[in-house]
Amino acid sequence: MKLTVLGCWAPYPRVSGACSGYLLQDMGRNLLIDAGNGVLSKMLQHINIEELDGVLLSHLHPDHIMDIYCLRHAIESANREGRINRTVPLYMPTGPTEDFTRIKGFTKAFEVQIIDEIPEPKKITLAGLKINFVAGKHNLPVYSISFEGSKKLVYSGDTAYNEDLIKLTTEADLLLCEASGLDKDTDYLKENHLTARQAGQLAAAAGAKRLMITHFYPEYVLSELQRQAEEGFGQITELAREGATIEI
Ligand SMILES: [Zn+2]
Ligand SMILES: [Zn+2]
Repeated sequence: MKLTVLGCWAPYPRVSGACSGYLLQDMGRNLLIDAGNGVLSKMLQHINIEELDGVLLSHLHPDHIMDIYCLRHAIESANREGRINRTVPLYMPTGPTEDFTRIKGFTKAFEVQIIDEIPEPKKITLAGLKINFVAGKHNLPVYSISFEGSKKLVYSGDTAYNEDLIKLTTEADLLLCEASGLDKDTDYLKENHLTARQAGQLAAAAGAKRLMITHFYPEYVLSELQRQAEEGFGQITELAREGATIEI
C-alpha cells in the first residue's frame, strides 16, 4: 500500500503548494482522498485520469473539495474522447447543501454515494479495499476514514479529539492525522481541530504503528508541529511532504 501526499496545506497553500489531497494506491488500484485546490495537477504527475478508481471527500470545506470542480471536467473529457466509458464513484457527506447539490449534479463524471446514508457501521468495499467511516467533530459534517487492504491506513479528515477516531485507528499501520496548530492554539482549535500534540496523543492511545501529520497552516514552522506531535506520540512522527510517496 502506497500513499502519496498531493497537498498538505490548509486553508490556503504555500507557494506552489496544494491543499488537502492524497493518492492511495494498493493492489493496482487508485483512490483520491480529498481534492483541495491544486490537487488535480499534482495527482496527474502520478496517474492518468483513466486510472482513477474512486474519490472520497472527508467533508465539503473548500480546502478539501475545490479541485472536484476541475476533476469533473477531466473525467467528462476522458469519456467524450473514448479514453474511458464510465463514471467514477464519489463518496461524500451531504452538507452544506449548496456544495453538496452542486457536486451531486456532476452526473456525467461521478456516481455520487452519500456517506451519511450508509447504514451503521458505515462500511463499504471500493477498489478492493475495506473502507470504514466514522463521524468526526468539526463545524461541518465530516468523516474520518479507514482503508484496509494489504495494510491499514486511517485518515482523520478535519476533526477535534474523539474516541471514535481512536477506535477506528486501532492497529493502523499508519495514521494520517490533521495537526492544525501548536499547544498555544489548543483553546482556539478545541471544537474543530487537533493540535499536533493531540494528534500524537491520539495515535498513542490507538496504538498506531506510524503517525504522519498534515493539514498545516502555512504560517507555522513545521518542525515545531513535528516536535509537539512526537512528544504526544512518544515516537518519531513524519511530516506530510508534497510529492512524497511512502510505502505503508
Ligand atoms: Zn481543512
Ligand atoms: Zn474543515
